[in-house]
Amino acid sequence: MLPELRDRVSHICAQCKFYIIIDGKTESKTGCAAFIPQYASLARRAPEKLEVTDVLRAVGREGLAMVLAGPGNHSQACGQFHPKRKNNKKSN
Ligand code: SF4
Repeated sequence: MLPELRDRVSHICAQCKFYIIIDGKTESKTGCAAFIPQYASLARRAPEKLEVTDVLRAVGREGLAMVLAGPGNHSQACGQFHPKRKNNKKSN
C-alpha cells in the first residue's frame, strides 16, 4: 500500500493539523484549515481555534461553507492529511 494512501485510511480528520475549531457567536463547529490559503500553503501553522469573523475575512461566505463542510469527527482523512504535532507544551 502506498504510504500516502495508508495515512489516509488509517487516520481521521481530528488527527490532522488542519482540523480546527471555528468559534461563532453562539456555537463552535469543526473546520478544515486546508481551505484557507494562508494555512493550506503551510506558510503559517493552522491554529487550534479561529473566530468565524477571521475565516470570513480570509475566504468569504462560500469559503466558510467549504471550511465547515471539510472535516467531521470520524471522517476518514483526505489526501491533504498532515499529522498534528503530538507535544503541545505549554509555556508559562
Ligand atoms: S479534510 Fe483533510 S485536510 Fe481537512 S482536516 Fe480532514 S484530513 Fe485534514
